[in-house]
Amino acid sequence: MDTKKVGFIGLGNMGYPMASNLLKAGYTVYGVDVNKMNEKRFAEIGGNIGFTSATLPSEVNLIFTSLPTPPIVESVYLGNEGLVENGKTSLTLVDLSTVSPELNKTIAKAALQNGTQYLGAPVSGSVTGAEAASLSVMVGGNKETYDFALPYLKAIGKNIFHVGEDHGVGTVVKLINNLMAGIHTQAVAEALSIADAAGLDHNIVYEIVNVSSGQSDVFRRNYKNFIAKDEYYKGAFTTELLLKDLRLANYVSNSFKTKLPLGEALVDYFESNIKGYEDKDMSTAYLMLTEQKVEPAK
Ligand code: NAD
Repeated sequence: MDTKKVGFIGLGNMGYPMASNLLKAGYTVYGVDVNKMNEKRFAEIGGNIGFTSATLPSEVNLIFTSLPTPPIVESVYLGNEGLVENGKTSLTLVDLSTVSPELNKTIAKAALQNGTQYLGAPVSGSVTGAEAASLSVMVGGNKETYDFALPYLKAIGKNIFHVGEDHGVGTVVKLINNLMAGIHTQAVAEALSIADAAGLDHNIVYEIVNVSSGQSDVFRRNYKNFIAKDEYYKGAFTTELLLKDLRLANYVSNSFKTKLPLGEALVDYFESNIKGYEDKDMSTAYLMLTEQKVEPAK
């Protein structure tokens, strides 16, 4: 089997630029997406299309997935027409999506029983990181399988870590990261709402905080790429996906019996206020807060 052939399922905000970078690195890439417009734009830059999760495994030795939610990941891997059912011994499956560590482990068990290798390998670095092939990738799974997948991972990311042999352990790190990204996102929203009330120019606040102790990469990203441009769609990590990850972080915390006072409060807050902001970037937490209609006091 040609090792330069690779499959990619889920050509969305993250998947499309990652699959594009595999093409640029010289791989022959077979792209699959339920949204046929996404497959079409991938074919326009040289990707192969026309396959499904059932037919892709016979074409390649490695398949990446970058899918939105745990139930979708579960069906693509474990469904009747799924990757595991149609796998083979020479196949390695690498899930770049953010799911629960339990789902990573369930899929790994089913895949290994079928003789197929599997890695849980969530990524961080936003759409800009996916475009620049500079993502961080945190991998859980067998070290030999990791070594096999490493050259492919280097085409999409810059900082690649083998966290451990447990298939869900990379995801635990990813959820820690996104819990922090979520809390920072809400901190940015609250900070700018005070700036508005005080009549302060956002740019001045950003410039000062950026060289002071409140500085964060999330402030840079959310402010520079979205809030300052008043543009919340292009390059998005949607509020809906952030809420998914915050719920997963709370779920993991409960399973370890640790406490997340802010994490829990943030899930409650987003659940009550997300309507109308689901498909916009997470930085829209600023609008969620400032556009809120406050009932006048009686
Ligand atoms: P997205 O919704 O933009 O892309 C997901 C793609 O999967 C879509 O194109 C969709 O049509 C496709 N899809 C859905 N169901 C499918 C199926 N059954 N078969 C094939 N394709 C299917 O989401 P995204 O922002 O690219 O995120 C993908 C994953 O990466 C998520 O798990 C997310 O949490 C994670 N992630 C996202 C970012 C980000 O900045 N957007 C950063 C890090 C990690």
